[in-house]
Amino acid sequence: MDTTRDYWLILKPQVYIMMSTQRILLYNTEKGVYIESDEPSCIELIDSARDEQNKGVRFLPQKVLNNNRLITFIRKLQELQMVELKPADNRTHKPESLLPVYPEKSPVFSKDIMLCLTTLYLYINTTCKQKCPFCELYYKQNPCCTRTKCGEELTIEQIKRILKEARNSPLGKIHILGGDLLQYSRFPQLVEILEKANTAVHYWINYKNTNELDTRLLNKIKYWNVLVDFPLDQEQLQKNIALFNGKAIFYFLIHNEEQREIIETVRKLYHDIRIRIIPIYNNKNQDFFETEYYLSKSDIFSKPISQCRIWRNQTVNSNNFGALYIFPDGKVKTNPNAECLGDFHTSSLEDLLTKEVELNTSWLKIRDNETHCKDCLYRHLCPPPSNYEHLLGKANLCHVI
Ligand code: SF4
Ligand code: SF4
Repeated sequence: MDTTRDYWLILKPQVYIMMSTQRILLYNTEKGVYIESDEPSCIELIDSARDEQNKGVRFLPQKVLNNNRLITFIRKLQELQMVELKPADNRTHKPESLLPVYPEKSPVFSKDIMLCLTTLYLYINTTCKQKCPFCELYYKQNPCCTRTKCGEELTIEQIKRILKEARNSPLGKIHILGGDLLQYSRFPQLVEILEKANTAVHYWINYKNTNELDTRLLNKIKYWNVLVDFPLDQEQLQKNIALFNGKAIFYFLIHNEEQREIIETVRKLYHDIRIRIIPIYNNKNQDFFETEYYLSKSDIFSKPISQCRIWRNQTVNSNNFGALYIFPDGKVKTNPNAECLGDFHTSSLEDLLTKEVELNTSWLKIRDNETHCKDCLYRHLCPPPSNYEHLLGKANLCHVI
């Protein structure tokens, strides 16, 4: 940059900008690199470059380039491929910029609300002979079986009705959970019906409940998710690994660091099992949670965040959006921790989803609405609020603020 010339400063389309009164963040969504500044002249420069009049291209007269902090800032922006400078010897030829338009407000739902339904969680029963001490907590944090939603069963007829009502929805996944699935009164028939659903159907079962699972039924099901809680029954785990023989993903529900170490031993013993680790908050393991789950600034910027993801974070809660939970007592929610939308026995899925539009129980819960996050520069880069935030009663599970 020659500081004796005039320039056009052009913001590149891949730049995401977030500004507060005293600080600015520019983020290159392709490279995953960023720069922050609290220098007023830098904030003013970028603010005016993206305003209605300049639309991403700002004239930079030579006299502005007397400011050393501003020059260093612009050079850094060039190095991070966020701006381009073009000599402006003839000011009349203003270059074009294609700045992305990020939505200012929440999106309007599709006119047909059923087109928003992408994931169903069907709790088909609540019967289970196990006595896991955290049964009431697991399902509020991750898809998991539970005995606590009292009721009988979702009948085959009710499940058929759900599938019929959802037939025009872009359903990508159906999750089948209990209780103990094998105690569902017509489990083999249910599997047959769901085979025809033309959607990926995921079955969730606790590893202690698999002893009566016959291999014919096991092999009919494509997606098995096996939940493993602690204390670990090594022998039972071994039986499950042999039984599923590579067909299942094993979800280990852990409460502390020691349990994580046990899983590392399991990993070494059985190379080919697919393992996912789910940290569980049990009201007493705050310290473990802080180390395990709280975000640091380096976590937020650890990999590039696409414009699409930033746009999503500004509009919907992608953990919840599109999901519907139906419990055997008829209660319907968009998340196990959300307010109940109504009773499946007396309302159609469409009516229940319309209620979500009115009440916003979880689909649009984003960081812009959370007290501790709403003014944070990183609020569109952080993952959306999850069940953990809800259970810990703290919106910002981070070490940043
Ligand atoms: S196996 Fe599942 S449903 Fe049964 S007690 Fe344990 S967590 Fe609850
Ligand atoms: S305060 Fe909220 S938005 Fe900011 S870093 Fe923490 S969790 Fe993310």
